[in-house]
Amino acid sequence: MMHWISNLSLAAKLRVIVIYAAAVALLVASVLYMSGEVLSLRRSLAQHLVTLATTVGANTTAALTFSDHADARNVLRSLRADPSIQAVALYDASGKVFVDVPLGDETASATERLRAWDIEDPVNDTQTIRFGGLTRAHIQVPVRLNGEQVGTIHVDADLAQIYSQLQSSLKSMLLGLLLAVIVAYVLSIRLQRGILTPVSNLVLVAKNVRENKNFAVRAHKQSDDEFGVLIDAFNEMLAELERRDLNLRFYQSELETRVRERTGLLDKAVAEAQEALGRAESASRAKSEFLARMSHEIRTPMNGVLGMAELLRHSTTLDDRQRRYAVTIHQSGSALLDIINDILDFSKIEAGKLELDIAPFSLRDIVEDAVDILAERAHSKGLELICDIPAQVETAVSGDAQRLRQIIINLISNAVKFTERGEIKITVRHAGSDLLNSSFDFEVKDSGVGIKPENCANIFESFAQEDSSTTRQYGGTGLGLAICKQLVELMGGRIGVVSSPGVGSTFSFSVPLAIDPTKVRDRRAPVLNRTRMLVVDDNTTNREIVRHHLVSWGVLVTEANSCRNALEILDKSFGGQFDVLILDGQMPEMDGTALAAAIRGRAEFAGVPVLMMNAVSAMAPAASDVHDGPTAWLSKPIRRTQLHACLCSLLATEPLATLGATDAVGQGSNRAAASGRKVSRIRRVLLVEDNPVNQEVAQAMLQELGVEAVSAWSGEEALERLVVDRYEVVLLDCQMPKLDGYATATRFREWEKENSRSRTAIVALTANALSGDDQKCFAAGMDYYLSKPFTSDQLYQVLESCRSDTTEAVAEIKNDNAVLDQQALARIRALHRAGSPNFFAKVVGLYYTSSLALAEAMRTAVAADDAAGIRQAAHSLKSSSANVGAMVFAELCKDVEVAAEEGNLDSARVLLDKLLAEHKQVLQALDAQNIAA
Ligand code: ADP
Repeated sequence: MMHWISNLSLAAKLRVIVIYAAAVALLVASVLYMSGEVLSLRRSLAQHLVTLATTVGANTTAALTFSDHADARNVLRSLRADPSIQAVALYDASGKVFVDVPLGDETASATERLRAWDIEDPVNDTQTIRFGGLTRAHIQVPVRLNGEQVGTIHVDADLAQIYSQLQSSLKSMLLGLLLAVIVAYVLSIRLQRGILTPVSNLVLVAKNVRENKNFAVRAHKQSDDEFGVLIDAFNEMLAELERRDLNLRFYQSELETRVRERTGLLDKAVAEAQEALGRAESASRAKSEFLARMSHEIRTPMNGVLGMAELLRHSTTLDDRQRRYAVTIHQSGSALLDIINDILDFSKIEAGKLELDIAPFSLRDIVEDAVDILAERAHSKGLELICDIPAQVETAVSGDAQRLRQIIINLISNAVKFTERGEIKITVRHAGSDLLNSSFDFEVKDSGVGIKPENCANIFESFAQEDSSTTRQYGGTGLGLAICKQLVELMGGRIGVVSSPGVGSTFSFSVPLAIDPTKVRDRRAPVLNRTRMLVVDDNTTNREIVRHHLVSWGVLVTEANSCRNALEILDKSFGGQFDVLILDGQMPEMDGTALAAAIRGRAEFAGVPVLMMNAVSAMAPAASDVHDGPTAWLSKPIRRTQLHACLCSLLATEPLATLGATDAVGQGSNRAAASGRKVSRIRRVLLVEDNPVNQEVAQAMLQELGVEAVSAWSGEEALERLVVDRYEVVLLDCQMPKLDGYATATRFREWEKENSRSRTAIVALTANALSGDDQKCFAAGMDYYLSKPFTSDQLYQVLESCRSDTTEAVAEIKNDNAVLDQQALARIRALHRAGSPNFFAKVVGLYYTSSLALAEAMRTAVAADDAAGIRQAAHSLKSSSANVGAMVFAELCKDVEVAAEEGNLDSARVLLDKLLAEHKQVLQALDAQNIAA
């Protein structure tokens, strides 16, 4: 109910309250009024009965006096006329019931009814009226005769008639109530107008404010009552809000202005930043280009310096002093080139341009190669260089081999640089157990000057060196370790150092390298299984490493840590107990050679095979020093593969010739003649180079290698020469004015294709050391890549690779030599005059051009059914082909000629396909002959 009311509108609520209040008030008033009415009506009815009883009592005095009960009864019965009287009894003066007349309900006696009234004194002298409940009444009236009480009348009455008398009053009361409610309703409406209008106005204003956010409106005040106060407060509140709104708008517009200003500034800043970014990008591009150019510009003269110095070094006419100068120039040049390479690498890393080149490689080879490179430097300082890669280390992995090698070389080279005595040990360990995602730990430990602990942390920063005295004493740029760190991190690894001054440093890094599952692990033939060997070395680490390798091949190893110890062991053993003696070349008391001689001096060990482990710089002793017997020399640090190969050779049944000082078995097979000079198997190259110094250097190197070099000074000249003459290899400079090397290579490859020429190897010569350059060369159709400055060794190697390719190509074509008549070819070759251009190549070139044109003419004539055209072309092709010895092809041409003559175009058409296929073969065969010439 209350909830229902609380949801009503204010007007309805007011109406309900007014009506409700009016109704309740009226109801209370009516009830009070009705109650009074009932009481007064009852009293007057009772009074009426007293009068009636007094009158009847007066009439009974005679009957009482004469004890006439019948008369008394008759008199009392007259009271029947009043319906409210239920019973009447007359008592005599002694208090006994004289007559008992029940009137209302005849069944019960009046005395019994009266007994219910609990009358104390039935003959009391006073009139009494008693009420029981609302309508029951007992009336007691004395009967007097001449002033003396002779009896008493008791009346029992039921005054229910008061209800019927009240009914009409009740009706009028209800009518009044209804009227009052109606009046109250009407009044409430009028009242509501007076009270609620200000409220409604207030609500409208509030709504307006809420919907339109208009704080300028005001509510109209109509009175000074509470509503007036409320409206005043509301208006004040609106005024405050309006003021705040105005302030807010003001601040907002100010803020917008500021934001606009700031946005403008920001836009300007962004534009400036973009401009700066553009500038930075173009600066970065310019830096890269500058790097490339600088690299080129520096490398070009470096090529001259290093190349010439190298040639000078090997010159036979220099005296010792001059050779030393040449060696110094070469060494300084190499050092300078290292620094330039470091700076370039660093700039590349800084510019984020360095990308890893992931490919499968042998981890052992890479580490052992790096160690090899620095072995000579270490040994010349008297340092022991030890490489410890256990046999079980997985060595076929995938990663950037060159960059890994660079890191290791850098660390070892630092170790050699900062160590004066003792040893440098390189350790590789497989850190991860997971087969594919494995990581390897590398460690380079030296016994050098060490680094102060406070400097260890920033030693990997760029340009960081321990202190200026280091720079003075050892030189260097301070970039090496920074590059190592960047490279290791690029590979996803970590690098660190532990060092103590005066004791030595240990640089270690670990990098993840995926194990290459396609490569099988190092598995060697079990030749060495169960053989017995004595290892004599004073250096424990070295001995341990060698033992490790030997044990992994099943060798039964005995160790001796000194010559004396070795001799003691041999004293106790018998001849033939050891299959091989492995001796360290340099030991304190007695060197390896002397020990070998001493051992072989004993009859039972006279022919025992000896493997001597020497420093790189140590020379192989004269055979007489070692007495007879198979002996091999192996340069330190020991490489696993070489050790295995050497031991296998020593154990081979045939007595072995003494092996070269640094060359293990199978190594250096490419080394040339006894003079030590290398001679290339390539005979003729075209050298395309616009720079006179570079021309000079390359010419000299090629001459050294026994290669005839024809010079071309530009791309255009190169193309001209290539069209008319054949070369086994083209050495092509990439950076040339106008037609550069890339364009020249591209055009030449197109020409080769159009003319069905076999492929001539092109070696790119470039002074650009930036990454991606090699890819650019390969994309342009070049086959190899030589970075300037290059050594004659590198040039030799690349020519050897070209040679292998050419030989393969020639071998392939030689099988088809049936297409050419060798005698005819010999006749052409015989026409060549010494000193004049290659006549054979000239003839072949001419045949190429003319035969291709004739074949094309024949194809056109066949398509146009032009019999005369076919005949003419076939005829010309027949005679020129016979001249170069293409007899089979000439026969085919003849068949076509005859068919055309007979007008048999169908068979000419069939023959044409065969003819074109054969023509291709002829051109290829001629090409091969030209190369082989
Ligand atoms: P730098 O070209 O000067 O050798 P690095 O970055 O390779 O440049 O080395 C930075 C510095 O770290 C060196 O100058 C030297 O002070 C210190 N350092 C590097 N390796 C070693 C080492 N094995 N023993 C002692 N100090 C070393």
